[in-house]
Amino acid sequence: MDALSPEELRDIEQRLDRLEADLTGRLPGLNQEAPAPGEVQTREVGDEGDRAEWNNEKSGHGALLAHYRGQLHDIDAARERIRSGSFGICVDCEEPIPLARLQAYPVAERCAPCQERHERLYMSRRPEIDES
Ligand SMILES: [Zn+2]
Repeated sequence: MDALSPEELRDIEQRLDRLEADLTGRLPGLNQEAPAPGEVQTREVGDEGDRAEWNNEKSGHGALLAHYRGQLHDIDAARERIRSGSFGICVDCEEPIPLARLQAYPVAERCAPCQERHERLYMSRRPEIDES
């Protein structure tokens, strides 16, 4: 299999960092119930007013929060794969994921065809998806 070069991996890690910073910056209090596994960082937490607002608007923002939590989880999982050396390999077919796809979507754990198939299966029974 083709391993990514150290430069390519570093680029991916920077993309993951930016994704995470973007998510956590936009959603104060997001990490309260979803601490990143194995990662202790000091994060700015929004003031109580911000948090109450988020809690009060459950319908729309709750679904959004669940969506962003999922993304943060994906970012952590991607970092874990980088550490373990399995990053860039499709978890389903075990073929290398094209670099262009990884750069566009650094949390990808599947090649495009496998991801499509997975989403069709997974989305239909994903519990946090709003049923409305
Ligand atoms: Zn695949």
